[in-house]
Amino acid sequence: MARRRTRRKKTIPALLALVLALLSLALGEYKGLLPAGPGQADEPTARTGEEVSPGQRPSALPAADGTMTVHFIDVGQGDSLLAESDGHFLLVDAGENDQGDTVVSYLREAGVTSLDYVIGTHPHSDHIGGLDDVIRAFDVEAVILPPVAHTTKTFEDVLDAVQEKNLTLTQPVPGDSYDLGDAAFTILAPQADYGDDLNNWSVGIRLACSDGALVACGDAEAQAEEDIAASGLTLSADVLKVGHHGSCTSTSDVFLQAVSPAWAVISCGKENSYGHPHEETLKKLEDAGIAVLRTDLLGNITAQWGEDGITWTYEKMDSGS
Ligand SMILES: [Zn+2]
Repeated sequence: MARRRTRRKKTIPALLALVLALLSLALGEYKGLLPAGPGQADEPTARTGEEVSPGQRPSALPAADGTMTVHFIDVGQGDSLLAESDGHFLLVDAGENDQGDTVVSYLREAGVTSLDYVIGTHPHSDHIGGLDDVIRAFDVEAVILPPVAHTTKTFEDVLDAVQEKNLTLTQPVPGDSYDLGDAAFTILAPQADYGDDLNNWSVGIRLACSDGALVACGDAEAQAEEDIAASGLTLSADVLKVGHHGSCTSTSDVFLQAVSPAWAVISCGKENSYGHPHEETLKKLEDAGIAVLRTDLLGNITAQWGEDGITWTYEKMDSGS
């Protein structure tokens, strides 16, 4: 990671951010988020699927001695991802409202006392539901939310927690990079104004260390994925957190080819009512030779990057079922 462009602390007050978001919605444009630059520069590498070795079942969470560790926390039907590098932490989403305690407990067990960054990908409750609990439980340096509002109590709860802790909101601007210990992440999305389509407003990131990278774009669907792919930003990654819990409305061909992952992680609830992940998506990943790991089948999933590749561990909670 020789060059790293860092723009930390680019913050604006929460109220101002909201006003800007509403204004931009009203005007139908959002200048900072327009796609820029030439087409995708990275050419997808042809990777054959690598076998995932059977998961060890650790008694404690994996030690964080790799260059970067990412935990896909099992929050049922929803998303929650914790990334760690050199004692620095990033949390992306925290599941539904009733998963707040689960996520807070998981973070404590993982050694979190403060979070460098908290990202709420978009205002749907299966992503930001538990965020207010997390923001109240830990010292938080920066909160990143997309500039789109939602008229739910869940969304208001998050803003209340942000305000209580005297935090400011950081605006996700594609291309901006932030240090996370020995790793760094780049904002990929949102690339445009998606109106009422909250999924497509999802904040997307590419988190990279010297040993590899992860791409995670919340519930961004095909349209947003295509905008990301056309942005010219680097997308190649070993691991893709599959968009929208494996829905067939995400994981578009152009996006999948641009990321070209060896592994795909799907976060979804066991026998969820949406039928996630959809067969179409699973087949597409299988046809591309990509190994799939699912939280509904494996529980908490951890990827630890190191010189010899990625070490995967699973930790199925004993739910008694
Ligand atoms: Zn979702």
